[in-house]
Amino acid sequence: MITDTHTHLYSEQFDEDRNEMMQRAKDAGISRFFIPAIDSSYTERMLDLEKNYPNDVFLMMGLHPTSVKENYKEELAHVKEWLDKRDFYAIGEIGIDLYWDKSFLKQQQEAFRTQIQWAKEKKLPIVIHCRDAFDEIFEVLETEKGDDLFGIFHCFTGTLEQAQKAISYNMKLGIGGVATFKNGKIDKFLNQVEIKHIVLETDSPYLAPTPYRGKRNESSYITNVIDKLVDIYGLTFDEISEITTQNSKEVFSV
Ligand SMILES: [Zn+2]
Repeated sequence: MITDTHTHLYSEQFDEDRNEMMQRAKDAGISRFFIPAIDSSYTERMLDLEKNYPNDVFLMMGLHPTSVKENYKEELAHVKEWLDKRDFYAIGEIGIDLYWDKSFLKQQQEAFRTQIQWAKEKKLPIVIHCRDAFDEIFEVLETEKGDDLFGIFHCFTGTLEQAQKAISYNMKLGIGGVATFKNGKIDKFLNQVEIKHIVLETDSPYLAPTPYRGKRNESSYITNVIDKLVDIYGLTFDEISEITTQNSKEVFSV
């Protein structure tokens, strides 16, 4: 059993062939799909996805840092409304992204911290999006750390030192296509990170692994990531699938 802990299956990029794409993933052994939120414009699509694949998808709720703009307070209110209305499996993806735009850093920090506090109240994991912002993310985690803070550092792309720091805040590392990239760097030290800290993800439709790099990503390509981890950890394909699924159950309690 394989778990994709981060996939945007509701993306417009799958509107033409979503059923076929889902079938390819199931044929490849993926049976659990965790769905990160972005902002209110996608909520309807997420709920539709869940209606169509009720046994396969597990929804998160949250405000993505690149969607933190002038109207972020309304967007946060939307997140809170849904969190109070029904169950979700995590609060995500949340965090800080300074790659595209630095002008809302203060608001991103505030939105990140607020959503962490909601996660603690609801006893939910967080799923962190971090781009060009390790120091800023760690600064928030440092003040919020504790037994009630846990989750996944999604699409981890940092150094070994940053990996250890993320793990020290009860975070698992979400490993996907970047591990297969020639210049992805994390494959060089991942063997020094115990596999109990690793979960698998695709982040599809983004970040397709080699040999699909640059193309549309889909959940079935997670097998290329597993192949890479087989090399790195010297475990079998089934062992990697089993252990990382177990790790995902630990995080999401399902
Ligand atoms: Zn994502």
